[in-house]
Amino acid sequence: MALIGPAVLCVFSLAFLWAWVIERRRDYLLLLAAAPALFAVAVAIQVSFWPPSVPANALLSGLFYTAAVQIAAEGVLRRSGKRLGRDWHIGAFAAVMGGLWWFAYVTPNLLARVYLQNFGYGLVLLVASLHLTHLMRGRPVDRVLFWVLFAFGLHFFPRTLLTIGLDSPGDVRVFQDSLFWQVLHLSLAVLGAALATALLAATLSDVIDDLRRERDSDGLTGLLNRRAFEHRAGAVLAATGDAPCALLVCDLDHFKRINDSHGHAAGDEVLSAFGKLLRRVSREKDLVARIGGEEFAILLPGAAQAAGLGLAERARSGLAGLVFSFAPGGGAVTASFGIAERQPGDTLSGLVAHADRRLYQAKASGRDRVFADDTVEVPAPERAEAAALATGSIPTPR
Ligand code: GH3
Ligand code: MG
Ligand code: MG
Repeated sequence: MALIGPAVLCVFSLAFLWAWVIERRRDYLLLLAAAPALFAVAVAIQVSFWPPSVPANALLSGLFYTAAVQIAAEGVLRRSGKRLGRDWHIGAFAAVMGGLWWFAYVTPNLLARVYLQNFGYGLVLLVASLHLTHLMRGRPVDRVLFWVLFAFGLHFFPRTLLTIGLDSPGDVRVFQDSLFWQVLHLSLAVLGAALATALLAATLSDVIDDLRRERDSDGLTGLLNRRAFEHRAGAVLAATGDAPCALLVCDLDHFKRINDSHGHAAGDEVLSAFGKLLRRVSREKDLVARIGGEEFAILLPGAAQAAGLGLAERARSGLAGLVFSFAPGGGAVTASFGIAERQPGDTLSGLVAHADRRLYQAKASGRDRVFADDTVEVPAPERAEAAALATGSIPTPR
């Protein structure tokens, strides 16, 4: 019976270990695997009465309990990119172990050891949860994790009330028949299992979120890829009815020449920098995507054509200011832009075709320019020549 607890702890330990084998870069999983295993060893030492000497048993089990609690706290924190720090851990460990040694060997007192361990462990877990209050604003699984951790830390305090009326019995076996001891093990089992389950669920959600992000993003620029853009833009159009919505499509000019003259890596450098620029000049809620080799699209929910024009101009002039390793003077790369505004009943493909027609016009009338429905042709800025020079190409005839 007494070994059911350690057996369950070992199952959780193996579950975290297995999760780590699959996701080795999440090294906090190793800490979460170690914590229940150490806790199981501590329980086994206590229930098996080995070593039989009471103070030695108290000290050895205390060592494993304390390590387990501190490692669990550190594991939960590291999942969120936080940590308590080496000094903090050494201090907490020394305080609990020093106290245990005192009340085991110098002034033997079982109740004092019980208080020390309960208050110490409760404090460690509460301090950890105070570092994790941001989880309360996270996903449901993060909120559950926070409250379970907080409850776990807190429960160490009220349960010590059950020791009132108990005098410190010399025989540990008598103490282990008390109501306090039963409640201690039941609450530890229930809350410990809840905490481990919440942590496993949070880890699973982290992994799924990461996989989704990878599936939806373009590896080179970090923007949405075409598939994700079509999915999300379609959903935005469907959800916003006839509200205004602008779409911008753009394509780098003479990009093939950059690859041909300076190599594929130079081309990649341009794509990556232009992707960052597009993200910088657009709003948080805009959907920014790389939809082809050197083609990009931005959907502007709630924005009319004028907002799209403004964004395109910011991107066009921003691109002129970018410097690249193969063109330190800047102004080497240009792009053409087409803007369309959603018409009543437009589907995404209709809107994209509309913006593509404007982009084609921008290309046909000399590149490095922005075209929308009512754009009148204006001469291309002088940068077209600069671009041609930088790429070592012949200037495009206007
Ligand atoms: P235009 O001004 O008419 O758009 O001419 P362009 O040269 O930009 O267009 P074109 O379609 O002829 O060439 C696009 C080039 O983009 C060809 C392809 O090799 C290159 N490309 C596509 N994807 C990548 C990529 O991921 N990295 C690099 N470096 N080049 C890419
Ligand atoms: Mg191009
Ligand atoms: Mg193209």
